[in-house]
Parts: sequence; C-alpha cells; structure tokens
Amino acid sequence: MITTPAGFDPALDILLDDDAIAHVFVRDSLVLFSDSPGALPWRFYRGEGLRAARVHGIGRHEGKSHVAVALDDDVSARSLPSSLRAANLRSWFSVIDDATLSIAMRAVQVLEWDRTHRFCGACGTRTDQADNERAKRCPSCSLTVYPRISPAMMVLVTRGRELLLGRGINFPPGRYSALAGFLEAGETIEEAVHREVLEEVNVKVDNLRYFGSQSWPFPNSLMIAFRAEYAGGELRHDPAELADAQWFTPENVPQMPPSLSIARALLDSTLAELR
Ligand SMILES: [Zn+2]
Repeated sequence: MITTPAGFDPALDILLDDDAIAHVFVRDSLVLFSDSPGALPWRFYRGEGLRAARVHGIGRHEGKSHVAVALDDDVSARSLPSSLRAANLRSWFSVIDDATLSIAMRAVQVLEWDRTHRFCGACGTRTDQADNERAKRCPSCSLTVYPRISPAMMVLVTRGRELLLGRGINFPPGRYSALAGFLEAGETIEEAVHREVLEEVNVKVDNLRYFGSQSWPFPNSLMIAFRAEYAGGELRHDPAELADAQWFTPENVPQMPPSLSIARALLDSTLAELR
C-alpha cells in the first residue's frame, strides 16, 4: 500500500531549478526516461528540450526538492523525444520505487486541480494562485478553491470465513475487489458504507471496523477502508454498478487488485486472519 514516505516535508515555495527533482506530466500521464524510470533533476528533462508550462512545489524528501511540472497543453505523449515515455501513473506501479510513486501521486493531483481551476467557477474570471497556501483565488469575486479531494468508502464484508467481492463493470477480466463507492453530500463515511453495500449487493452489514485510508489520484480520491460483517439480505448485485458479486472462501479467492492499493492490503490482512 502506498503512503507518504517517512521524512517527506510538504512545501509550496520551491523553484524549478536544474537540481530540483521533477515529476513531469503530460495531462495525467507521467513522463520518464524509458531506460531509467524514476524522477530525475529537471536538467535532464530540460536537456531533452522540454519546457515547463506550469510548476508547483510539492515538498522535500531526503534533502531534495520535488516539483510538479506540467508540459504545455499542445505537447502530447506521442510528440515527446524517443528517450521519454509518458504513461498513466498506474502503468508505472512496481516500475518506479514507492517513494517516487507516492510523491508523483501528490504531484498529479495538484497539477490536475491547477489545470481544471484556471477560471473561477462562479464568475469565469481567470484565477490567481494564493500566496501562502495551496489555493486559487478569484480576483473578481474572491471565491477561493482548494485542491479537491473526493472521499470514497471501501468495505470488505465477511460472513464467517467467506468474503464478499465484486467485479466493477470496468475491471480487467477476472479481477474482483472489495466494494467501494463515493460519499454523497451530507453523509458520514459509515452511512456511505451501509448505503453503498445495500445499493450494490442488497446486503446489510454491521460491526464496521476502520482499516485505513489511502490517497488514490484517479483522479482525486481518498479511499477510506473498513471491514464489516454480514447482517442480512440475499446477495443480488446491481448490474449498473457491478458485473458480478460473489462470496468467496480464502481457498478460492479470484484475481485480486494490485499490491500497491489499499484494496489489496485490506484483502491480504483479512485473508491472513481468516486462514
Ligand atoms: Zn469569481
């Protein structure tokens, strides 16, 4: 499971000098050297002819400054020099080290927030970057917007030694996972767990136990994970949300989510207990 590396110190005011470690993006795709995947000082990217369009300080780690760099909007993954490759962050999982990945996961969320809040949502005026906080302010109507983070619940429901897993309609073939869904305005996280489980699989749960949380930048979720116990209802999945849902025993669990996700950590921890 990916978490912020120990000793990471968030910071806003970092200059894009040649020695700053650059997390370079084309839209939401991370740009890395194909033959040495991992974030490098900006001078290497600059040496390939890249120019930064938008830059945000992210923080400091192990004595180095980290910055998020967005390339110009007219740069595409295909127009990059052949030494570089741009790909969705997910495809860099297990290719780059976890600390770099974690900082890149922060960087992409800041850049996407920046890209999608260039104009005030209330009056349409171009926004300004606030001086001393991660915020954008409208010079006309003073609306202030902060990076958007969307909380979502995740829950692994157990019934004795069985686990309830679902297949999202967009999952890769054969993949199952714990149930998940976004909060609605005004809900508590616990209410969201009860509502989503009932909506998605027609099952009631109780004995919620907090497991942990993980930032998940696809595009801006905070996954908040629980265990819960079956408390009634006949399993029947909502075909609008799930392609399938089943009870599995620890002996016949299907293909599971990638190892860096909280979904996998939740499953592994529960399976270890049930076995
Ligand atoms: Zn405004």
